[in-house]
Amino acid sequence: MKLRSVDVLGGGPGGLYAARLLKLRHPHSRVRVFEQAEPASTFGFGVGLATRTQQNLEAADPETFAAIVANSWSHEMSMAVGGRQVSLALDNLIAIGRSTLLDVLRSHAADAGVEFSYNSRVAAAELDAELVIAADGVNSGTRDARAEVFGARIDVHKGLYLWAGADVALPRAVFAPVRTEYGTFVAHAYPYASDRSTFLIETDEETWRRAGFDVTTERLPFDASDEDALGYLGDAFAEHLHGHRLIGNRTRWLRFRTVSCERWHDGNVVLLGDAAHTAHYSIGSGTKLAMEGGIALDAAIADASDLEEALAEYERVRRPAVEHLQETAARSMSWWDSFPTRLDLPVEQLLVSYMTRAGKVSVDRFATSAADVVRTALAQYARCDVSEVDDGNRNEWVLRQPLGKSFGSRRVRASEIPGLRPVRVSLSDPWGSAADTLVKEIGADEAASGVLLTTAADTGSVLTMLDVAERIRRETDMLVVAQLDPSATDLAVGALVTERVDLVDLGGAA
Ligand SMILES: Cc1cc2nc3c(=O)[nH]c(=O)nc-3n(C[C@H](O)[C@H](O)[C@H](O)COP(=O)(O)OP(=O)(O)OC[C@H]3O[C@@H](n4cnc5c(N)ncnc54)[C@H](O)[C@@H]3O)c2cc1C
Repeated sequence: MKLRSVDVLGGGPGGLYAARLLKLRHPHSRVRVFEQAEPASTFGFGVGLATRTQQNLEAADPETFAAIVANSWSHEMSMAVGGRQVSLALDNLIAIGRSTLLDVLRSHAADAGVEFSYNSRVAAAELDAELVIAADGVNSGTRDARAEVFGARIDVHKGLYLWAGADVALPRAVFAPVRTEYGTFVAHAYPYASDRSTFLIETDEETWRRAGFDVTTERLPFDASDEDALGYLGDAFAEHLHGHRLIGNRTRWLRFRTVSCERWHDGNVVLLGDAAHTAHYSIGSGTKLAMEGGIALDAAIADASDLEEALAEYERVRRPAVEHLQETAARSMSWWDSFPTRLDLPVEQLLVSYMTRAGKVSVDRFATSAADVVRTALAQYARCDVSEVDDGNRNEWVLRQPLGKSFGSRRVRASEIPGLRPVRVSLSDPWGSAADTLVKEIGADEAASGVLLTTAADTGSVLTMLDVAERIRRETDMLVVAQLDPSATDLAVGALVTERVDLVDLGGAA
């Protein structure tokens, strides 16, 4: 269909990118962007763009993509735990400052003929256009004004994060936990310019309160940075800051909010980006989702005969990808929440745990990009020398390893182990109160020799069962046996290598 006029609410990455794509495709239409802030007043530091995202952006708009790449900074990844740091040359990871990204998107949108109104806080209902794109961010007024129509749901996460920066390009991206007198803080940090890095720090609520950050947050004016937190954490992370300080930009402790909506459009108004959906920052996908949403919206409009058909198609095409990513993000968030409980593991095993956390990457697949790390992790798991690890048939080798003197192999028949307490895991949240009760009950069962966990065959249920298995293993002294379908061998191997289960029965769900 041909569009005559488009008004975009919000000059973030989603709104600016969609505006340019639509103006390029419909050169005779009027495309306007309304942004409440000044062009240069954005806050935040850098955002990361993974390889797949880069490919999608390049295919949609090579010119803008080239400018993004020219202004970005590439990095490899590493994890630093217990005085050891291990790097991964994983992928073509790049990061770009949020304000630089917005400059690039704004100038390319302007080149295409998009009109701008900065310092204009408007409501969707005030706009008069054939299509209104509400790209007004996580606090979307458009979504909130019609929350019932959009079926909006906002889940507030219990943990806290602080989006800070450092005035130095770190040599590589790093995940680093630091234990303090109050508890553990974890940094997710990466360079994004020659003199800047994002330095995001997260912690649990109890640690945050013990450190007094509930008080500093309470008394902080809305546009100030929490200098007390930045000073304290700058000292705590001194080793990783290479002599530099943490810097703030309206930096305060926040709780991540996961936004989801049953519908993304109502009449001629369509939600885009964070307004419609968010995904936890640990998979670095918010900007990607907002920009890819713009690509999908533009394509759906081009192919449809009217607006209703176009917006329905946009949702039909985009929703599965978004929900899939949100599920991955939820698992990643839980993994990071429970990260401090795993700090007894050596860094290589932790890296395998990190990569396999959402069930997307198997140990074998991870080994194609990080053979040495995986080999070392396997040796740590089997308590043997790295020279003894068989890279040729990794899964079989993992399953063949003995457990102490009692089990000649990690692959067992559960029916041959006497005294196992059978537990069918049907929980939705492995960290919720029902799981707390279950783990406690199992720990108190003195009659059982161990626990045999079963669940439904779908991947989501298996991953949840393995989360519960890991909790039982860490919080009780029970032997943990998981029964899985042979098709879940990769998940079983990942769980063994990362010490989430002791033994597996691959005979299928009982
Ligand atoms: C801690 C943290 C780390 C992150 N790290 C990453 C990362 O590494 N990689 C990544 O891809 N993403 C990351 N993100 C997410 C990313 O910042 C957002 O997902 C992304 O900016 C969403 O883009 P958007 O265009 O939908 O919304 P936004 O960027 O939020 O833009 C919305 C715009 O709308 C404007 N606006 C709102 N209401 C009105 C109104 N009524 N009138 C006019 N203007 C209005 C706002 O001023 C704002 O400029 C991170 C987010 C957080 C919180």
